[in-house]
Amino acid sequence: MDRQQEFVLRTLEERDIRFVRLWFTDVLGFLKSVAIAPAELEGAFAEGIGFDGSSIEGFSRVSEADTVAKPDPSTFQVLPFVDADGKQHSARMFCDVVMPDGSPSWADPRHVLRRQLNKANEMGFSCYVHPEIEFFLLRDTPTDGSVPTPADSGGYFDQSVNDTAPNFRRHAIDALESMSISVEFSHHEAAPGQQEIDLRYADALSMADNVMTFRYLVKEVAIDEGVRASFMPKPFSDQAGSAMHTHISLFEGDTNAFHDPDDDNQLSPTGKAFIAGILRHACEISAVTNQWVNSYKRLITGGEAPTAVSWGAANRSALIRVPMYTPGKASSRRVEVRTPDSACNPYLAFAVMLAAGLKGIAEGYELPPASEDDVWALTGSERRAMGYEELPQNLDQALRIMESSELVAEALGEHVFDFFLRNKRAEWDNYRRNVTPYELKTYLSL
Ligand code: GLU
Ligand code: MG
Ligand code: MG
Repeated sequence: MDRQQEFVLRTLEERDIRFVRLWFTDVLGFLKSVAIAPAELEGAFAEGIGFDGSSIEGFSRVSEADTVAKPDPSTFQVLPFVDADGKQHSARMFCDVVMPDGSPSWADPRHVLRRQLNKANEMGFSCYVHPEIEFFLLRDTPTDGSVPTPADSGGYFDQSVNDTAPNFRRHAIDALESMSISVEFSHHEAAPGQQEIDLRYADALSMADNVMTFRYLVKEVAIDEGVRASFMPKPFSDQAGSAMHTHISLFEGDTNAFHDPDDDNQLSPTGKAFIAGILRHACEISAVTNQWVNSYKRLITGGEAPTAVSWGAANRSALIRVPMYTPGKASSRRVEVRTPDSACNPYLAFAVMLAAGLKGIAEGYELPPASEDDVWALTGSERRAMGYEELPQNLDQALRIMESSELVAEALGEHVFDFFLRNKRAEWDNYRRNVTPYELKTYLSL
């Protein structure tokens, strides 16, 4: 047993932990959990916990259903929720999913991201990420398709007084910090009920774990406050949707590889090629960064979301922004990718963005000129004339583009790539078959 494992076992005893939840994530980004008694943990460290992979989205074909979850002791944290005695008795650990012979499962999103991070490492880079996570607080989450009621009536940066939001954010941040997830900023976002919490940067794998933990904690804290949280990309037709802007930087040792003080945008050739990579492959990776039918209702003009492939230093209509508000601070030079939404699978989304950026670096892609235009203000034909490529307009288009992407096939691995396409095709077909309330309202009088 290694020292981290010993530390976990000792902490279980000292803190009187009675349930150890072993967490992993399915291909669609849903959190899975199996709780074990502390006495079982030593065995779980040695051999893992077997489960029926065929019952988990994307994990195995039925014939090879035996799959094993192996807890990663470096992710051990006590969960903030208290039992009737006022004490915390549950903890969690993320797991790596392996096959019975001990080799990594190709379906494990953690493994997909690890592979990409190894690739970055081989090129001499470590990768840091911080997301700005937007979501809605709602009074209810009706399941019959009716429109939910936002939990407050605030707007961008409002300090509301009689609302749920400020207390909710304080409690959510306490919960996150108690699990070593540092929060940098939080505020009310533009739409009624909409909140944003920005996490402090961490290495990409820890951050993907943090995003999974974040969604879980935020939903639990919301329930405690008598409301509900939703990470649906676009719940309201006439309000902005929920983005997960993702800030990425690469480091070579202690040096920020994106920084060059002498450049106009303080971007190094590596930084420029990385941006060029994400731009060139933005449409191919879109089905992963924006994976639901509903994701594409967010990527329209008017909701501060990107609609075309472009980059800029301050321009918020751009798909990639290079934040400039820390001039001269070399270590914080980074790129902000504005496409992903809050309902993506963070492991897969980080993996494909990184794959695209690294390809840009490896092949020396040239960065197109920054766009000073407000892309939202241009018409479709103006955009085409100026050379802006449109992002896919719906999941169907995104899947068609992804299908022939070598980059995404390579980044996800054959198994996840095939499963993802099959699953998402079925989602689109289901949607396409449905006659929506909008159509009834608009066409019934024909
Ligand atoms: N909510 C907007 C979106 O869906 C982003 C707003 C912002 O710039 O923070 O992309
Ligand atoms: Mg925001
Ligand atoms: Mg942002």
